[in-house]
Amino acid sequence: MAIEAKAKAMRAKGVDILSFSVGEPDFDTPAHIKKAADEAIAAGFTKYTPASGMPELKAAVARAVKQSCGVDYGTNQVVVSCGAKHVIASAIYTLIGEGDEVLIPAPYWVSYPVMARLAGGVPRIVYPDGENMIWESGPAHLPPAGAGFKLSPKALKAGLNSKTRVVILNYPSNPSGAVYSASELKELAAVLAGHGAVVVSDEIYGALVYDEPFSPLAKVAPELLDRLIIVNGVSKTYSMTGWRIGWAVGPADVIGAIGNLQSQTTSNPASISQHAALAALEGPQDCVEEMRREFAKRRDIIVAGFRKFPGVSCDSPGGAFYIFPDFRALLSKSSVAGALGLKDGFAGASSRLCAYFLDSAKVAAVPGVEFGYECHVRFSFAASEENIIKALARIGDALGNLVKG
Ligand code: PLP
Repeated sequence: MAIEAKAKAMRAKGVDILSFSVGEPDFDTPAHIKKAADEAIAAGFTKYTPASGMPELKAAVARAVKQSCGVDYGTNQVVVSCGAKHVIASAIYTLIGEGDEVLIPAPYWVSYPVMARLAGGVPRIVYPDGENMIWESGPAHLPPAGAGFKLSPKALKAGLNSKTRVVILNYPSNPSGAVYSASELKELAAVLAGHGAVVVSDEIYGALVYDEPFSPLAKVAPELLDRLIIVNGVSKTYSMTGWRIGWAVGPADVIGAIGNLQSQTTSNPASISQHAALAALEGPQDCVEEMRREFAKRRDIIVAGFRKFPGVSCDSPGGAFYIFPDFRALLSKSSVAGALGLKDGFAGASSRLCAYFLDSAKVAAVPGVEFGYECHVRFSFAASEENIIKALARIGDALGNLVKG
């Protein structure tokens, strides 16, 4: 958001900034969903709903979960909140007490460690190579190049201890786009089965996968159902970030407690947005497939582009709409480190690189440090093909100049 603010200020001065920093689809909300909201206003659905969401919407969420996971949930096992962010924060507040640990695989969505801290807990970051440490404010570790972005069963085991109360899984991942296969999830579930921690599975990007069908944890590991909280929402699937509707599905006691917390804090999410979300879940789903296909095309273009840059390695994300390239080979060159003003190894590298991209290439992206990785940068491909191609050319020129010094 800080990068976006600087980019906005530059844009206001007439600078042609290309934004690759946003975490939201660039498509409009589909017309039939907007129409449902108009109709809800006209019909007078403008009052409080039950604090934990309208029963019709909860039932629609339960049906969607049944369809994807084959698991039956009652409406008392669904809570609808002001976005997935809200419900994840409420779940953490509900589940942990002072000093309890929240295990967070790196790279992580920026909000998880902060939510754990705000709730009085201790965020423990686990890197793919097995290192783990308590989160302070940024990365304390850089896994070897090629370690990938997925949590291994061994790393998970090493990160769990008697204080671990919650384990967060997020796949497809923000920022890496990494997606666990069914067999990888089974292996993680086997480790989790031997520990009492509650698993919060953030599946907000589950509809946006490009290589393999999405495997929901509930389907793969039914043995975890009595302590699994599934999180999802309409923001990314239906391009509805501003409507603020997300939900959690899980054991009735935890979901009830989240609902009680919500009842005393925000009350219900906006009634109009709930009607729109109902239309999204119950209406035609071709809009989701159209967006998914468009993202898949863009992914291929941006990944191919980044793979041509010397000193940069770029995994192809299996889902979501982000790439998270590794610039460490480039940053290891003394001319590049000198040009960026790096004094202490890679410390500050991703922020300086992003500032350089903004100034020199007029491209806004998010420093990897925010996600626990110092040599990486997150680029969102929720941008038009034309702008992706334009940005690739600009970044290529900027990197060329950086190497020349
Ligand atoms: N979880 C992840 C991994 C996200 O990237 C985001 C949004 O960027 C959210 C949750 C929050 O989504 P919502 O708009 O539903 O609050």
